[in-house]
Amino acid sequence: MAEEQSSPAWGFNTRAIHVGQEPEPVTGAVTVPVFQTSTFAQEAVGKHKGYEYARTGNPTRTALERALASLEGAAFGVDFASGLAAEDAILRLLSPGDHVVMGNDAYGGTFRLISQVFGKAGITWSAHDLTDPASLAAAWPEKTKLVWAETPTNPLLTVIDIAEVAKVTHANNAKLVADNTFATPYLQQPLAHGADIVVHSTTKYIGGHSDVVGGFVATNDAEVDAHLRFIQNAVGAVPGPWDCYLTLRGVKTLGVRMDRHLSNAAAVVELLTRHDAVSTVLYPGLPGHPGHAVADKQMSGYGGMVSFRAAGGRDAAIKITEGTKLFTLAESLGAVESLIEHPGVMTHASAAGSPLEVPADLVRLSVGIEDKADLIADLRQALNSVA
Ligand SMILES: *Cc1c(COP(=O)(O)O)cnc(C)c1O
Repeated sequence: MAEEQSSPAWGFNTRAIHVGQEPEPVTGAVTVPVFQTSTFAQEAVGKHKGYEYARTGNPTRTALERALASLEGAAFGVDFASGLAAEDAILRLLSPGDHVVMGNDAYGGTFRLISQVFGKAGITWSAHDLTDPASLAAAWPEKTKLVWAETPTNPLLTVIDIAEVAKVTHANNAKLVADNTFATPYLQQPLAHGADIVVHSTTKYIGGHSDVVGGFVATNDAEVDAHLRFIQNAVGAVPGPWDCYLTLRGVKTLGVRMDRHLSNAAAVVELLTRHDAVSTVLYPGLPGHPGHAVADKQMSGYGGMVSFRAAGGRDAAIKITEGTKLFTLAESLGAVESLIEHPGVMTHASAAGSPLEVPADLVRLSVGIEDKADLIADLRQALNSVA
């Protein structure tokens, strides 16, 4: 929604706690209530207080939309029932015959949605190395309307230069979508670097507690916002008020959680770079990481996700993944507890045999906010078991 709620002078954490979250006018409740209602009484036919039916709008959802839009520096923000529902709404901007360019290690679910669902609807796609915007410009596929970039990517932690990819995209009259799930708006605001649309799985860092699934889209483009609002209401993949409440509760602590994720991730990276069981550590904070300079340019921290390749190959990677006690073996990421997974078999199985296939010796960590020493001890014993 377009309402100006924030003082532009407010810092990130103040906006996370206050924008869209003024005390409730009837009772003074300090926390935005869960408006568990499907409909809203009207004073006269067509005369209402801004809410008619809860698919179209719900005050708990409005609060979340305003808070998140403010954190992304966006004029508009629209919530969806999941990250993929949010992506689906964006992709409905396309018409049969249009083309989407995606990064060559996009999230597996994004790849599945574009190739298998939108493919059937007449949308074509190709995967490109978006770390090389000049090669994208040279090989620009005809009828490309959207470029879909994640940065850092899932699970290879590749960093894409948003401003450079935006230049190529705009020179060809297309729009750039940035999946900001890994970085979060605390570390990176893609609209400020030229992206047209930002998408989130709020299931991850924004919710932050592994207890709710959700998605969010931010934009400064009024036409895109009108499209998203229309799809939100016409298709109806909306989050319920409890989900919005839980997500908004997560938003309030995003900054403090990210600070801890960053310091714990730095300690984990230090262990991994020194351990014989590891052949390569993939983390944008490492000076040798190919995207390190770009990360410094567009991010204020390197994030809480760390991937690495096991020196002993696929079997060692699986043994490490199954060998931790504190790092829970599970899909998903971005919450308070640490998780470990094997992308080739788990999150990215749908990319097998495609240009987006991930290495079999890859392990992905979502470093949580537990005590650093406990995380390091757990990971060390799992790595020692294969060294
Ligand atoms: C999880 C994830 C999604 C999909 O979001 P859901 O909430 O699971 O639908 C999209 N992009 C990235 C980078 C993700 O990690």
